[in-house]
Amino acid sequence: GALEWPTRDLVSHRVATTPQRTALMDDETGRTWTFRELDRRVDRVAAALESRVGSDLRSTRIALLMDTRPAFAVCVFAAMRTGAAIVPLNVRETPAELRGTVDRTEPAALVCERETEPAALEIGREPPESIGSLPVLSVDEPETDAVDELAVEPSSDEAPAVDPVPLERSDELVVMFTSGTSGEPKGVPLTVENLVSSATASAFRLGVGPDDRWLCCLPMYHMGGLAPVVRSALYGTPVVIQRTFDRHETQRVLAEYDCTGVSLVPTMCKRLLEAGWEPEPDDALRFVLLGGAPATSELLERCRAADIPVRPTYGMTETASQIATATADEVAAHDGTVGQPLVCTDVTVVDEDGEPLPPGETGELVVSGPTVTPGYLSEAVTADRFCEYGLRTGDIGHRDSDGRLWVLNRRSDRIVTGGENVDPGEVLEALRSHPTVDDGAVVGLEDPEWGERVAALVVPDENDSGRGDRGDLESGIDLESLLAHCGNRLAGFKQPKTVGVAASLPRTASGTVDREAVRAQLLEDGVDVPNST
Ligand code: ATP
Ligand code: MG
Repeated sequence: GALEWPTRDLVSHRVATTPQRTALMDDETGRTWTFRELDRRVDRVAAALESRVGSDLRSTRIALLMDTRPAFAVCVFAAMRTGAAIVPLNVRETPAELRGTVDRTEPAALVCERETEPAALEIGREPPESIGSLPVLSVDEPETDAVDELAVEPSSDEAPAVDPVPLERSDELVVMFTSGTSGEPKGVPLTVENLVSSATASAFRLGVGPDDRWLCCLPMYHMGGLAPVVRSALYGTPVVIQRTFDRHETQRVLAEYDCTGVSLVPTMCKRLLEAGWEPEPDDALRFVLLGGAPATSELLERCRAADIPVRPTYGMTETASQIATATADEVAAHDGTVGQPLVCTDVTVVDEDGEPLPPGETGELVVSGPTVTPGYLSEAVTADRFCEYGLRTGDIGHRDSDGRLWVLNRRSDRIVTGGENVDPGEVLEALRSHPTVDDGAVVGLEDPEWGERVAALVVPDENDSGRGDRGDLESGIDLESLLAHCGNRLAGFKQPKTVGVAASLPRTASGTVDREAVRAQLLEDGVDVPNST
């Protein structure tokens, strides 16, 4: 109707206005593409999809089993051009897990690359029963005849083959899966409105300039990696693509490509700083979106010391990325805040009964606005997570009287031991303040007497030179001193009753701590603290 948003895939809008501007810059090959060139590749792939998969792909889904690379972006816009939604699959999943995801999303085709062809073929040969057949296409030259090539390179100056399908604001563009930090990854449909609103609200907070270049070094099959791709077409500014993050290489790419923005999770930021990251005074870098997990005060302090323009951010897959992003002034004046929610996004803090709480009080964060998914793939999850005030995030936090937001931890992370609530973040702060500890994770383990007991997996500080005098050389952690340290800082019920040491924390692909894996590791080789119960 007249009030709908008739739009087209985002590249066809962009190519109509600034075709000569750079769209993609690929560090792996050193190649760049203008929007005109991107548009032609998108047309090729859209035409190939229509001829191999079906002439009318509106309201269908195309699964992508591909790592971060320019062809990923081409496929995203090509599917959009045909009216299909993309389902980015996590290349780190096992074939059994992938099959489950394919079963739940019922795609019309599966697009892979050289490295993922065997896994894609395995699913394509015997697709889940929910889908009759699943054509497998590759953006690279296929190794077997069972896979069709989806030629990305335009061969000649032929006329465009595909008429971009009109899209409405409620049309699904992506089904993105959450990171699976607190259980099975959840399928999240995101619409035209979700993605466009997210891009515009983010631009209002961060600003957009003609010289902007956003480095994408997070996986494109997660929201943090896909968002800069979608925004590139909307803003008309390039996205710089780096296939995998590396503490040294990422620094080089940031400088070499004059990147003005980058999204990082705290672990990446920490690694960069450890590798001596310190932008020059005339560096182009304008913002570092730091989100996905809580950033410690120590990390923020180190960023300040190194003059990193860090902008702490709270976001989630269900909101197409950012919910709140702090301004530079807020970072300096309000320790640990993720700032105000973005424009048109609202966050309500509610108590256990779902009733709104006044400023300053801590409760679950409920988010509403045009970036919030219309509902999960699973109706049961939708019914469980949506309430009167919007989407229950499962995150615990509070807002001050000016509306600034702090995110503390997840509801599901809270440990209840002997009827007492323990905030794992508080225990972690105590552990981290010990000189031999670099990082850690605090979880509850089932306990026959107390319901749950506090358990900690700690990572030794590799730079701590003095530890040899203080005890356990092998693990790098002086357990006795660590426990005494906790004893001085935490009430008895909050002190860890089981402790394990690891070289690094198990993490999900998006960088959050995989708490289930932490639990498993602690059950396997955690040491129970004597006389602790
Ligand atoms: P799953 O929903 O499957 O358990 P996930 O929640 O980790 O996985 P994502 O959507 O990638 O999947 O991550 C969003 C979550 O990350 C938020 O709900 C929040 O718990 C956490 N998070 C993001 N930014 C911050 C932040 N600045 N501080 C604290 N936590 C954050
Ligand atoms: Mg989540």
